[in-house]
Amino acid sequence: VSETIALEGVAPLGGEPTTIVVHDGMIVGIGAPSEVPAGATRIDASGLVALPGLVDLHTHLREPGREDAETIETGSRSAARGGFTAVHAMANTTPVADTAGVVEQVWSRGREVGLVDVYPVGAVTVGLGGTQLSEMGAMAMSRARVRVFSDDGKCVHDPVLMRRALEYSKTFDGVIAQHAQDPRLTEGSQMHEGVVSAQLGLTGWPAVAEESIIARDVLLAGHVGARVHICHISTAGSVEIIRWAKSKGIDVTAEVMPHHLLLTDEAVRGYDPRFKVNPPLRTQGDVDAVRDGLADGTIDIVATDHAPHPDEDKDCEWGAAEFGMIGLETALGIIQLTMVDTGRMSWKDVALRMSALPARIGRVDAHHGRPLAQGEPANLTLVDPVAAWTVDPAASASRSNNSPFGGITLPGRAVATMLRGTITHAEPGLGLTPTEA
Ligand SMILES: [Zn+2]
Repeated sequence: VSETIALEGVAPLGGEPTTIVVHDGMIVGIGAPSEVPAGATRIDASGLVALPGLVDLHTHLREPGREDAETIETGSRSAARGGFTAVHAMANTTPVADTAGVVEQVWSRGREVGLVDVYPVGAVTVGLGGTQLSEMGAMAMSRARVRVFSDDGKCVHDPVLMRRALEYSKTFDGVIAQHAQDPRLTEGSQMHEGVVSAQLGLTGWPAVAEESIIARDVLLAGHVGARVHICHISTAGSVEIIRWAKSKGIDVTAEVMPHHLLLTDEAVRGYDPRFKVNPPLRTQGDVDAVRDGLADGTIDIVATDHAPHPDEDKDCEWGAAEFGMIGLETALGIIQLTMVDTGRMSWKDVALRMSALPARIGRVDAHHGRPLAQGEPANLTLVDPVAAWTVDPAASASRSNNSPFGGITLPGRAVATMLRGTITHAEPGLGLTPTEA
């Protein structure tokens, strides 16, 4: 990339408007318009907010094995459209990403596509079977340099195995990302256990099934001096446990998903499987608590849990439908709606919780989640905070369209994304031309 691009009138992190000059994949200047070099492509970016490229610690790209749901290419394109420059691809593929061979395959396919940096997550146990530790060290030493390990989709339930995984991960500065779901307490569970599940006659999924595993794992992490990351926090009790663990100095981080910040179990009343997700949509009290937890930093980051499923797995009766929803293209708009426009978070906070901290937790912070400053890689997201738009899942770049947000209006969106200076997404009319993957 040798072209020089000057983004004029842009507001870094929502601050004072200025000009960001990008050349050769780097930010080469931030300053007054008079500093724009001759021959630069000048883009009118007035009214736009510049954020460091977003980083998703929790994406399901489905390749290898379920290319009918998503591929690394379609998922990467969906991520770029949502403002992401890096995603961590979960290990529950077919085959499972539990060897150096599989993670290297995912990593290099991501590089080949070139729309986002794809960082494979390694499985904690062989085949997600929950009985034998995977070759975590070999994955860490591979070209994919895996640092995040998770059996996501399944909980590492055996406490001895979880303890060993935490101890092992310390040797290469890795982290275990736990899908906190007690399997016995959630056998046959279809939705959050509460008033609505009782009225609908659906098998409940109690909050304690999540909270008991989190309580155990923060204690284990504290005991062995390892760091642990908790996936998709969904209950008020989980926020309380994380808050307590942090107050005790335990090295725990946690994530919340946009859908758990907006939707409640009331949405299940229509039996529309687009609202079927793991962990389930909870109560308004839980939504309020996770918003509070994200605002005060108890919950470190926002991640998407983008979980594509083809129509035949979602377009069926509630009980038969798969759990999960796509979310890469709606995440930023939902965070603006629930946290920024409500005064709970600034754009600076968004940059912290959707870019810098996820990059830090995943140990990719040498490349992503960097400050917007001269000499840094040009991984950028331009947000139009007044571009109200109505979500149309069929128009998503994802191969699947199982979004629960179809028809709702979001306040803003990513209008352009840049990975090391390469335009990976740009709305028409901006004057930026995206490269073809
Ligand atoms: Zn999960």
